[in-house]
Amino acid sequence: MAYSHILIAIDLTEDCHRVLERAHKLCQALSCQATLVHVVEPLTMAFGGDVPMDLSLLQDQQTEQAQSKLNILAEQHALLKENNCHLRYGQPRQEIHLLAKESNCDLILVGSHGRHGLALLLGSTTKDLLSGAPCDILAVDLSEHDDD
Ligand code: AMP
Repeated sequence: MAYSHILIAIDLTEDCHRVLERAHKLCQALSCQATLVHVVEPLTMAFGGDVPMDLSLLQDQQTEQAQSKLNILAEQHALLKENNCHLRYGQPRQEIHLLAKESNCDLILVGSHGRHGLALLLGSTTKDLLSGAPCDILAVDLSEHDDD
């Protein structure tokens, strides 16, 4: 069975170019549509809910930076256009699953570092996405590019 619409989830690190290259090849081979998403996580999730300071300015800056990185990527990759790049705010698993359903995507493409040790204990976005996924998930192996 071929796929018709791929949702590419990227973390906006250098690794995302690798995921995008793989997505491009897949889309060419299968003649399918692509949608891209990056999810900005609420800072309160990273620092805990009871931080005694206003994080809204930092949060705005984080969102602006993410948007400008997305705009640069859209210019660099032939696969991307302004109208298929989405910036979402919230918990990555929830937002990626939601967008996959809303856009009728039948494949979610992510990167995977194949981490172990502490990172494995903490879990990874890729592992998290598997639970309750609305469609298939393909993880692009990024491990050979890791220096650690
Ligand atoms: P990680 O578990 O953080 O190493 O991320 C694994 C993969 O999940 C990344 O290569 C991306 O494909 C995806 N991912 C991680 N964080 C995000 C995010 N905030 N928004 C969208 N995709 C993400």
